[in-house]
Amino acid sequence: MSLKNLLPNYINGEWSASSATEFLDVVNPATAEVLTQVPLSPKSDVEVATTAAAVAFTSWRRTPPTQRVQYLFRLKFLLEEHLDELARTITWECGKTLTESKGELQRAIENVEVACGIPMLMQGYNLEDIARGIDEIMIRQPVGVTAIIAPFNFPGMIPFWFLPYAIACGNTCIIKPSEKVPLTMQKVFELLEKTGLPKGVVNLVNGAKEVVDAILEHPTIRAISFVGSSPVAQYVYSKGAAYGKRMQCQGGAKNPIIILPDADLAMTTRIAADSAFGCAGQRCLAASVAVTVGEARHTFTDAIASAAQTRVVGYGLDEGVQMGPVINPESKARIEGLIQKGANEGAKLLVDGRNSKISGYEQGNFIRPTILQNVDPSSEIARTEIFGPVLGLMHLETIEEAIALVNSGKWGNMACLFTSSGAAARQFRYEAEAGNIGINIGVAAPMAFFPFSGWKDSFYGDLHGQGRDAVEFFTQTKVVVERWPQEWSRQF
Ligand code: NAD
Repeated sequence: MSLKNLLPNYINGEWSASSATEFLDVVNPATAEVLTQVPLSPKSDVEVATTAAAVAFTSWRRTPPTQRVQYLFRLKFLLEEHLDELARTITWECGKTLTESKGELQRAIENVEVACGIPMLMQGYNLEDIARGIDEIMIRQPVGVTAIIAPFNFPGMIPFWFLPYAIACGNTCIIKPSEKVPLTMQKVFELLEKTGLPKGVVNLVNGAKEVVDAILEHPTIRAISFVGSSPVAQYVYSKGAAYGKRMQCQGGAKNPIIILPDADLAMTTRIAADSAFGCAGQRCLAASVAVTVGEARHTFTDAIASAAQTRVVGYGLDEGVQMGPVINPESKARIEGLIQKGANEGAKLLVDGRNSKISGYEQGNFIRPTILQNVDPSSEIARTEIFGPVLGLMHLETIEEAIALVNSGKWGNMACLFTSSGAAARQFRYEAEAGNIGINIGVAAPMAFFPFSGWKDSFYGDLHGQGRDAVEFFTQTKVVVERWPQEWSRQF
């Protein structure tokens, strides 16, 4: 493979070939076409990027916040101008529909917009006369060199939960995209370059575990934002913390939605189907278990089965397609294996989406929407993150039992309730143990000005991504207590 077919890194304001000796194919999940090769960069590439980011930090932190955000204003307009091209890139490498790709980019842009408010958001506070003639002020300062490690399922959005806040607060940054979907960040960095950001403020290092370990171990890197599966999140969190870093690590999920008998059935079914099967179920906020309460059982079961059977599956770039493939053949085999496991554990295969071939895309990693009925809450399938278009159905008699089920799980990314009762909604909001709650909402994704609040095994750390949490994560507080002798003598 010639070098020009390999993706470069972007370090210190320049595109440079990785010193990798190993490369992976990046494959379109619908067509199986090889799009490019991604280098698995070695530790030495992280070293070069970190040095560049550390040098850039000294002058970037002194650049006034009002000037720093000017680059973000430019980035917002560049992202909007190139939205179509970026969305196509996401669909090529990740498989989701073009509408879904555009939706995630909109979320990315919203984070840039919020970070443009940093001159207000980054302010500290103060109090005069904490004692006679003595004042105290708290200021926020950037932490230094930061790093972002991203998963495959939202290549255009997830780095933006962190990046705009990191640099607006005066930090410099290294991004490692998922090696499965590196093309989107490649294009985003072409736009970042166009903003004229000073060299070294943002850096891109392609790769996999070796890059992650080098980031975790590097003494200069002060804060790390990670999103991915829970076992890797746990590994990254504990290793990064052991190396003395500030960490925020978002993990996997198994999201329950509860349907009460008084829910609006047509609306609930449409929302539940979008949540479970949108992005082929590869969303950390995908509904994965639907629990019907009382009379909701029969009406919802028939309706959701029909929604699953009629969902249009195909190549995300084709008109009218509502669901694309899963990311790769290994993922498809794993999901189909889990569906079989569910059946072996006693669930009924109400809708079986396995072995589906899409005409014209026979090599694609397609699984049609699948529904497992009567899933036993104690079975393995009820507790395992499937990360595919598979919805398990359970049934209980009361909302109390349903909330107890929600709270018995080890995950806490999202829980949703469908009802027309305000009292039931309040009870659920109050008692459900999850960080993102939906009431008649199927994907309770917080807007950019709210924190993305996973709990339990879905999040390791203290401060979440987005909004004020992100500003706190990317700044360290400094308190100054001051007295001036002349003023002091005037008072006494
Ligand atoms: P993943 O854990 O396999 O990979 C995430 C990142 O970690 C990638 O950049 C990858 O290169 C790196 N990585 C993988 N294995 C590693 C290892 N052993 N050591 C060090 N680094 C390693 O996750 P994925 O398959 O890319 O993404 C899907 C997962 O992400 C799902 O579990 C999903 O729920 C989760 N996710 C969570 C959120 C959230 O907000 N909580 C959002 C999106 C995705």
